[in-house]
Amino acid sequence: MKIAEIFKSLQGEGKNQGKPCLFIRFAGCNLHCRWCDTPDAQMGGIEMALDSVLEQVWRVHPPYVCITGGEPLLQADQLEPLLASLNKQGTMIDIETNGTIDFTQFQKYALICMDVKCPSSGETSDLTLLNKIRKEDSVKFVVKDETDCRYAQEIINEHQIAGEIFFSPVYGTDYKPIIKFILINNLPVRFQLQLHKIVGVK
Ligand code: SF4
Repeated sequence: MKIAEIFKSLQGEGKNQGKPCLFIRFAGCNLHCRWCDTPDAQMGGIEMALDSVLEQVWRVHPPYVCITGGEPLLQADQLEPLLASLNKQGTMIDIETNGTIDFTQFQKYALICMDVKCPSSGETSDLTLLNKIRKEDSVKFVVKDETDCRYAQEIINEHQIAGEIFFSPVYGTDYKPIIKFILINNLPVRFQLQLHKIVGVK
């Protein structure tokens, strides 16, 4: 499988924010978000055998692994045996995905965090996938401005999203108008800043 990096840090986002985590960042992405904060992961990465990846995982013995990218589901055939091995050892797993590829085959192994692309990204996600989100999964809108907030609001109103919904401002954005928008509109979301960037870890 093509891997951009494997590293231990604090989970900066989502339901497990603040937990120590081993990140396995898959290389390659099918999108080009304007504000992508992991541009290196759009590159080719390093080819790694399953055993090498697992060796790195077991060396750390993490209670929790986050599969991220890039877009990890582009390597579905390689991802499945990795998830099966982690699952067998009882490791808790999250998969962060950009909402363009069906993730249902992986829900038996992991919690899904589906990123819904907003207008400021210049990209779009497949909104039909929102119907496949379970209550234990989550959905994240990375928002930059009021246009993004309104777009997210429409989606929330039009879909029965079973999982928790996060609003996460693009890093460096003035987030006060975003908080105001949430409060004025009583949005059923959780506002969240990217903790890893605030505390200055990777
Ligand atoms: S989906 Fe993620 S990795 Fe891909 S371009 Fe967008 S922000 Fe970057």
